[in-house]
Amino acid sequence: MTSLDPRSPLVLDTRELGRRAGAMKKLNFSVAAPADLGVAMVAVPIGSDIEFDIRLESVMDGVLVSGTALVTVAGECSRCLEPLAFDMEVDIQELFEHPETDSRGRTIEGSSDEDDELPKLDQDLLDLEPTLRDAVVLALPPVPLCQPDCLGMCVECGVNLNDEPEHKHDVVDARWSALADLVAKQGDEEE
Ligand SMILES: [Zn+2]
Ligand SMILES: [Zn+2]
Repeated sequence: MTSLDPRSPLVLDTRELGRRAGAMKKLNFSVAAPADLGVAMVAVPIGSDIEFDIRLESVMDGVLVSGTALVTVAGECSRCLEPLAFDMEVDIQELFEHPETDSRGRTIEGSSDEDDELPKLDQDLLDLEPTLRDAVVLALPPVPLCQPDCLGMCVECGVNLNDEPEHKHDVVDARWSALADLVAKQGDEEE
């Protein structure tokens, strides 16, 4: 029994590759992005195209997957909160180990120590999704910006300073102008 769904587009079958070290297979394919691919501020939109250009290589301990994934990232600028989107190429590099087997070739369930971080092959299947997720999160800019020199928002009134670079408040009069605004607003409401 395997816990992986072979129909999932990110679950790859390595059977064809065989266990002979050195065997190699190139794969080019695109899949619809799964959910939760990113962080709060920026993420790969669910269902967007992800293009994989990878190779599977049979090595001593398992199957080495390496290559790139081209993703679209969308989110908002962390300074001015305007929407932003860009393409990003992430490096994929992961060794999927053969599961440990007993003398009869049966998989030893739960034999691997807990802190063994390497993902395992499961009935010749491997799941690329956690690898992709880690790669995307790692490659995302920690402070996404709409442009490198984004001016952000006015802390006083929230105006986008990219639209109004000259915008500023007279600090001394700020309270009075707030009061004036209030009076003007009340005046509007009374009309
Ligand atoms: Zn911005
Ligand atoms: Zn302002």
